[in-house]
Amino acid sequence: MTVPFPFLGNAAWLDFVNTELSNGDDKIELLTGFDAFMRWGREAKLIDRGEGHVLENAAPERFHPDAVFEEALALRAELRKAVGDLTNGQTPGSPLLDQINKLLGDHPAVLSLKRTEGTWQIGSKPVVTGPRSVLARVAEDFARFMATADPMLLRRCASERCQIYFYDTSKNHTRRWCSMEFCGNRAKVAGHRSRLQRSRP
Ligand SMILES: [Zn+2]
Repeated sequence: MTVPFPFLGNAAWLDFVNTELSNGDDKIELLTGFDAFMRWGREAKLIDRGEGHVLENAAPERFHPDAVFEEALALRAELRKAVGDLTNGQTPGSPLLDQINKLLGDHPAVLSLKRTEGTWQIGSKPVVTGPRSVLARVAEDFARFMATADPMLLRRCASERCQIYFYDTSKNHTRRWCSMEFCGNRAKVAGHRSRLQRSRP
């Protein structure tokens, strides 16, 4: 059974970190290989369906799938470390900064000003797309996050068994769960059960 990628982070870089899940003691790896990584890139809308296929099928000599996949896992590990640092009020280290700036330098993007749903936004389109540009767009998302977001609103799901991170954009900043479906309801049911047990004579 293929576990669907969770897109619960409210930020592409957090969704990327959340491709490694936990079920208590066991890790659940969703990036099982290069193809899974590309599928994530398309589902995250960081690469166009068509563009991804062209590069994957027609020009494999332009990149090495194993090397890109290895780089993806290494970047994800660094970002996971960063999310831990940020939630503890610490600053991510400079090796990650170097990695981010290398990706951004290797894969420049064309910026544009656009108006979407009544708000002004800066659009960004990569000059060249391909497997590694997915990582560059993750890097760009992380860079924008560091420059504009409030790290105090970075949270880990309140379930101890779950290691999904998200950026709390809820109105009163009271979001506790990765999702009601995954962990919220499970916690509610567990709470209900323990209350029932306690009320029994
Ligand atoms: Zn959760």
